[in-house]
Amino acid sequence: AKNSGKNCWKFYDADMQAAAYEKMLLTNSLRRAVENNEFELVYQPQVNIADGVIVGFEALLRWNSPEHGIVSPARFIPLAEQNGLIRAIGTWVLQEACWFARRLADNGWGNIGVAVNVSPKQLCADCFIDSVRDAVHNAGILPNQLEIEITENVMIASLKESISKLEELQSMGIRLALDDFGAGYSSLTYLQQLPVQTLKIDKSFIDMILVAGSKKTIISTIVDMAHLMEMTVVAEGVETEVQLEYLAKSHCDFAQGYLISRPVPEKEALQFLAHR
Ligand code: C2E
Ligand code: CA
Ligand code: CA
Ligand code: CA
Repeated sequence: AKNSGKNCWKFYDADMQAAAYEKMLLTNSLRRAVENNEFELVYQPQVNIADGVIVGFEALLRWNSPEHGIVSPARFIPLAEQNGLIRAIGTWVLQEACWFARRLADNGWGNIGVAVNVSPKQLCADCFIDSVRDAVHNAGILPNQLEIEITENVMIASLKESISKLEELQSMGIRLALDDFGAGYSSLTYLQQLPVQTLKIDKSFIDMILVAGSKKTIISTIVDMAHLMEMTVVAEGVETEVQLEYLAKSHCDFAQGYLISRPVPEKEALQFLAHR
C-alpha cells in the first residue's frame, strides 16, 4: 500500500482500503486543483413566486478534474475541510462570486443578489471576515448584493462565536441566509438568535408536497413563522408546477429549482436575465 506511514492499513477490509485510497487520490488532485484553476462557479436563479422575476442567483461550485472528471461538491467539500484546503477554495469562491455580482451590476442588475455557500469550518477560520471584506471591496460591489448561506451546523459547532461573526458580517451590510432549514437539528431557539434575513426551506419539505397524505402543511407554518420574524423564504429544489402552486398558496416568497433552471454557467445566467 502507498500509505505505509500509517500502519493501520491492515485493519481495513478491501472495500475500506479502496475507499481510503480513492480518497487519497482525490485529495492529491484537489491540492493541485486550486493552483490549476480547475474550479468553476455555476449559478442557479431564484425567482419571486408572485411574478416570476429573478431576484438572485445561488453560486454553486464545480470541480472539473482532469483525473476524476466532474466531482460533486458534496464529495470534495468535506475533503477540503479535512485538509484545510477549504480556506483557499472558499476565498476563490467568494472572489469569483463577487466579480459575477459586479458584472451583474455593470449590466444594470445591481439589485440582483448573489448567494455563496459557506461551511461551518470556513466561518470559524480567523481570516474569514477579512476575506469577505476583501472580495466585496475588490469587486467594488455594494455589500448587500452578497448573501452568505450558512447551515444550522454552524450553531452546533460554537454558537456564541458563530453569532458574533454573523453579526459582524451583517453590520458590514452583507445579507445572511439559513440554508437547508428543517433538514438538521432545527431549533426555534437558534433561529431567533441568528441574524438572518432569509430562510431556505430544505428540498425534503418541498418533495413532501407531491406525496399524498404527507404533512405538507408544515410548509405554510414555516413560512408564516419566518414572516413573523421578518425573514423572507426561499423554497429549494422546486421541480414541478404543482409544487410551485402549493408554495404560492403558502405565501412563500421565492423559489429555486430545476423547474425554473438548473445551475448554469455565467454566460447562460446573463442570457437568462436578458430574455425574461
Ligand atoms: P445546497 O447549498 O443545498 O445546494 C443545493 C443543491 O441542490 C445543489 O447541488 C443544486 O444543484 C441542487 N439542486 C438545485 N435545484 C434542484 C432541484 O430542483 N432538484 C434537485 N434534485 N437538486 C437541485 P450541488 O450543486 O451538487 O451542491 C451540493 C452541496 O454542496 C450544496 O448544497 C452545498 O452544501 C455544497 N456547496 C456547493 N457549492 C459550494 C461552495 O462554493 N462552498 C461550500 N462550502 N459548499 C458548497
Ligand atoms: Ca445553499
Ligand atoms: Ca440547500
Ligand atoms: Ca444541502
